[in-house]
Amino acid sequence: MTKGRIFSGMQPSGRFHLGNYMGALENWVRLQHEYECFFSIVDLHALTSSYSDTSKLQENVMEMAIDWLSAGLDPEKNVIFVQSHVKEHAELALLLGMSTPLSWLERVPTYKDKLQNWSAQGKDNNTYGFLGYPVLMAADIMLYKATCVPVGEDQSAHLELTREIVRRFNYLYNREVFPEPQAVFSKAKVLPGIDGRKMSKSYGNTIPFGAGPEEMWERIRMMTTDPQRIKKTDPGHPEVCIVYAFHKVFNPEEYEEIGARCRAGEIGCVECKKRLAEKMNALLADIHTKREELSKKPEYIKEVLDYGAQRARKEAEKTMAEVKTAMNVL
Ligand code: SF4
Repeated sequence: MTKGRIFSGMQPSGRFHLGNYMGALENWVRLQHEYECFFSIVDLHALTSSYSDTSKLQENVMEMAIDWLSAGLDPEKNVIFVQSHVKEHAELALLLGMSTPLSWLERVPTYKDKLQNWSAQGKDNNTYGFLGYPVLMAADIMLYKATCVPVGEDQSAHLELTREIVRRFNYLYNREVFPEPQAVFSKAKVLPGIDGRKMSKSYGNTIPFGAGPEEMWERIRMMTTDPQRIKKTDPGHPEVCIVYAFHKVFNPEEYEEIGARCRAGEIGCVECKKRLAEKMNALLADIHTKREELSKKPEYIKEVLDYGAQRARKEAEKTMAEVKTAMNVL
């Protein structure tokens, strides 16, 4: 008996990093034991922001599937699939778009912010697809009649919009076709980037997910430390140090001791970084090995995604039959 049905998705927009893992995927791995889960690589959403250059889309989809499986998502237990492989996502989004007021979309908090940010970067995303992406997001969730959606606290506005779209649909067509999904708030760990800013591909400050020992050391070596510390014997301020922030997450057993030795000027930054690298390599070794193995099996990855799409389609077709009956689109 599970606690309910979850839908969640991620955009395949380039190499996955450790911040993505700690922010969402680690939580999914835990949720798969408690809920019936539909996890989708939402490639149509990726097009809302990157429609003009799609040359890497297929590669990114495959890489994301490999990341998910290496992290421990079970393709038997969960329905793992690519959004565009189930055409009903686009169909339901179109039908929901008929009754979703424009004002609901224009007031989504991230809409204007993202538009401004992108326009500052020279990207033109003032498109129908981008304005409508919350409707596509609602369709993703509603297609599987998901009762729960894992959200970070900054994403609850999107879920609230889905709930409004659900209520409007059920009211307009006078039947309870869809449940109102509830938020499952996750206690995601937020990792800074190696330069102390938010970990983000656009800042070039990430640690790739599945990094091997060499790449891991390369990134940890570049982490910013306490700028006032010149010699090993200088008393340090670990609270301003990125290496220390990572020890807190990945090395909780030694965290206090390292902080005390840094303050007393008894440990050098190179030794401190080496200890972190050892710890992170040990914790991520299984993921790294599994990732290497799966990267050599593209046919297996395709099979997993085909199998997931077949299972997703079965549910999607049932829901669309109900939707079309309710709307008299027969
Ligand atoms: Fe940071 Fe460690 Fe250097 Fe202290 S010893 S400043 S915690 S890297």
